[in-house]
This record gives sequence, C-alpha cells and structure tokens, in this order.
Amino acid sequence: MSVQAHTVPPTRDSSNGTSERLRNYVGGEWIEPAGGEELDVRNPATDQILARVPLSSAEDVDRAVTAAAAAFPAWRATPVLTRARALFALREKLDANREELAQLVTLDMGKTLDDARGEVRRGIESVEAACAISGELKGEVLEQVAGGVDVEMVRQPLGVVAAITPFNFPAMIPLWFLPYAIATGNCFVLKPSERDPLTARRICELVGEIEAIPAGVVNLVNGAHEAVDSLLTHPLVDAVSFVGQTTTARYVASRATEAGKRVQALGGAKNAFVLMPDAEPDAMVAGVLSSAFGAAGQRCLAGSVAIVVGDDAEQEATLARLVAGAEGLQVGAGADPATDVCPLVSPEARIRVEGMVAGALDRGAGLVLDGRREGGEAGAEMGPTIVEPADPADELLREEIFGPVLAIRRAPDLDAAIEIANSSRFGNAAMIFTSSGASMRAFRFGIEAGMLGVNVGVAAPIAWFPFAGWKDSFVGDLHANGRDAFAFYTRAKVVTSRWPSPAPATAGAAS
Ligand code: NAD
Repeated sequence: MSVQAHTVPPTRDSSNGTSERLRNYVGGEWIEPAGGEELDVRNPATDQILARVPLSSAEDVDRAVTAAAAAFPAWRATPVLTRARALFALREKLDANREELAQLVTLDMGKTLDDARGEVRRGIESVEAACAISGELKGEVLEQVAGGVDVEMVRQPLGVVAAITPFNFPAMIPLWFLPYAIATGNCFVLKPSERDPLTARRICELVGEIEAIPAGVVNLVNGAHEAVDSLLTHPLVDAVSFVGQTTTARYVASRATEAGKRVQALGGAKNAFVLMPDAEPDAMVAGVLSSAFGAAGQRCLAGSVAIVVGDDAEQEATLARLVAGAEGLQVGAGADPATDVCPLVSPEARIRVEGMVAGALDRGAGLVLDGRREGGEAGAEMGPTIVEPADPADELLREEIFGPVLAIRRAPDLDAAIEIANSSRFGNAAMIFTSSGASMRAFRFGIEAGMLGVNVGVAAPIAWFPFAGWKDSFVGDLHANGRDAFAFYTRAKVVTSRWPSPAPATAGAAS
C-alpha cells in the first residue's frame, strides 16, 4: 500500500540564496569567528541555501566563554528582582516576535508553521517559568540547631554555563536553558545545532535589544564538534546542558564530567504507544498519527512503536484505523497550511530513514504502509510509513529512527504490552490510549519512562515540570525545566553561625 496523498513534488533549488555568513554573539557584539570552515544552512523544503554557518574554533569558544566570565561578577550581584524583571522583558520581547520566530523555525528546520508556533509558545513558557526565580531561589534556615547556633542554606549561581542543542527544536530547546541559567545569575553560552542556527541567532538578537540583560550575559557560538569539545573542556565553563542523540549525550556527559563540570544530557528515544482495545478510536488515531508523523517523526517525544493490544480481531481493527488515518495525511512543505507531514531535515536524513526501512523489509518485516520516495533526487520528503517487523529484536523496534516511521508490535494484554515497552533501552516517553482508569494506573506504575501520556500523543510536560527521560534517554540527575532547572544552575552554600555575646546569655535564645 503506498501513500497517495503526496501533492506537488518539492521545488529543488540548490542555488546560493544568500552569501551571508553567520557571526557569533560575544560580549554583546556580533563578531566574525576565527574558524575558517563553514557549512551551508538549507531550507529542508526547497534545499535552498539560507546562510553559511561558521565552524567556530577553540579560540572562538574561548572568546565567548571569557566574555561570559567577565560579565558574571556584576550579573550575579544584580538584585534577584532586577534579574526577574529582565526575564519579564525577555518574555515580552519573544512574545512580540513569536510569529517571526515560528516562521524562521519552519524555514530553517522544516516543520509545519502550526507546529513551529507551538514550539515557540513552549519556549516562551520556559521564560515564564524562570520568572519565578524570586520564589524558587529562596533558601532554608534552621534556627537553634545547638545552643545559639543557626544553620542557613543559600543557593548561588555556578558561573559560566553552556548549552549544546539539537536541530529538531531550534527555538524551544535553547529556551529550556537560557532563561533559567541567567535568572539564577549565571552567564550563558549557547552552541545551537549547525543544521538550523537561524532561530537561535534571532533569539540572541532579541536578547541584545533588552537593556536589562547586560552584554556578555548571553553569548552564542556557531559551530559543530570542535566548538562542543572546546566548551566541554574549557576551564571557565562550570556546567553543560546538552540535548541530542544518545551517543552524543554519552560522549558529552563523559567528557564534561571528566573535566569536572556539572552535566545534564538528554538523549534519544524510542517511545511506545500502548493501544488498548477500549480506547476512544478517534482520539487514539489522532493522537498516534500526530505523534508518529508530526514533524516527520523528528521529535524526542514521537511515538515510534505502536503496541496493539487485544485479541486478533481487536488488533486488526486498531491497525486498520491507523492505516486509514495515515493514508489521509498530506505530505509537503512546512509553510503550506495543508501539510501534515513536513520534510525531514535534509535529503540525507530521508535516505538514512528509508535505508532503515529497507533493512527491516530485507529481514522479513511486513510493509503495512509505504511512504518512501527513494532516490537521491526526491528531496527531504517522506510519507507516513508503517512496518511490522518479523523479529521483536529488529533494529526498527529497538533504535531511534527519527523519521515518519511507525513500527508495530502486538500484545494479548496490558501486562505483555508494558513488558514489551520496558524492553527498550530508552525510556524517554510512553503513551497509553484507553478508557480504563485501572489500565492507566497499571501503566503509570509499571512503565519505565520519564514522561507519560494518557490519551495524549505527545506527552510534553509544560515548563513548570521537569523534562527528561530515563535509561538511555538521559545522562545526569537534574532534568531540564521546572524546579530541576533552578537546582541545576545553582549550588548550595550552607552557613553555620554562632553569635557569642559577651553579656550574660539572655533567657531562651542561648540556653
Ligand atoms: P546530535 O546529537 O547530532 O547533535 C546535537 C548537538 O551535538 C549539536 O549541537 C551538534 O553540533 C553536537 N554534536 C553532534 N555530534 C557531536 C560530536 N560527535 N561531538 C561533539 N558535538 C556533537 O542530535 P540532533 O540530530 O541534532 O538531534 C536529534 C536527537 O536529539 C534525537 O536523538 C532526539 O531524540 C534528541 N532529542 C532529545 C530530546 C530529549 O528531550 N531527550 C529533545 C530533542 C531532541
């Protein structure tokens, strides 16, 4: 069965649309990096070159980190309410420019405009959550732990903190870190994905317009591996926040930890849906399809394994509904309002994903729905694809695909489904569709994942809650966002005080 919904083939345009070479944002100035190499930044829908991104060197990273370190003493001494108000200003600035930011996300990363709008809104919510700094940063005091002795704990910023971010959320993920990092009094260096750096550039331009955020508090270094390695080993970097593939997360975490830095590293995913036969069918189909195929499956919260639960007839009915829904999805450019499934980030990404599907078919998988375009000229688009691997240990069921591919497993009952879901080495998210509270409770109790959805396809916690997975989806302790973010970007200082009085002790206090 092949997807019929594809409309007009994408217009390929490999022309050099602009010769602009991006700059780094260092100490409040946009400066030319010393690193001479550069990459093209392309529009995934048309392949047009949008800009050239420089691959910053260790020297470029050093400039940014040094600027951040120089800004730190004054910024950490800035009253907490003043820093909170700077965050209010950032919130207003981003909100006033949210449509432009969303359009940049679509242009540069490829997702649909609606999806990009949602991403920008989520990013702004992280700023709103970070505005709560004055309440969240309050310490603790315990009076009279011994005669005349009190103990207090204050939380202080770390210094210079860096964030290394992936291509799939070029607005939201930088904003998971920037607001909390600076609200808590740190200075920040962002290394965005080299594949779609235009949104981060615009965010930093907007930061630069806010008087209440002094030069050097926020810095941006473009680049790839060399820039990352330099951040991981720079002696003035105190903490690293990372989001990307699990192999990169492990590498980043081990190098940064070895260099004595605090790390949180959010990795890849292989998220399962548990589809119970009592699920409300329309909500289930809508939830599964938007999760598996929205953003062309390029989300860490995308469901990519559907565990269809029930007897044979129930399993077939669920599968038939999913296939019928997927066949109706429109594949096309993110900027086209009719599009459901956007292009992958690049033609190379599509070829990689199609290769994984072909591998599973060679190993005996059943092809339920084929959205492959195949061939080098087909651009970055790929339609929804549903595959039922023959072997439960097949790569398509085990490894992250990061494309519009849904793999099918079958289970007789909920316990078996939970066991299948938990056999994954990843533990980012898991979703159940059911109308039974008892099934939901058993799922919540038993499933090994950090973020769960109940009749929700994309279980993204709002910014006031921690965001991260378990198992191979995360390395570290404190998650992104929420209270974990305030804790990650600060360290505790505990003061034990005694105030001896030369006068005879007054009754009560010193007795
Ligand atoms: P990636 O790991 O390729 O890149 C992420 C960042 O690391 C980029 O800035 C890149 O320049 C840098 N990098 C990549 N390889 C490196 C290396 N060998 N040495 C040093 N730096 C390196 O990830 P990606 O493809 O941009 O993003 C997609 C991945 O991110 C998926 O695996 C997805 O699941 C994951 N992701 C996870 C979450 C989460 O919350 N867990 C959220 C979004 C994305």
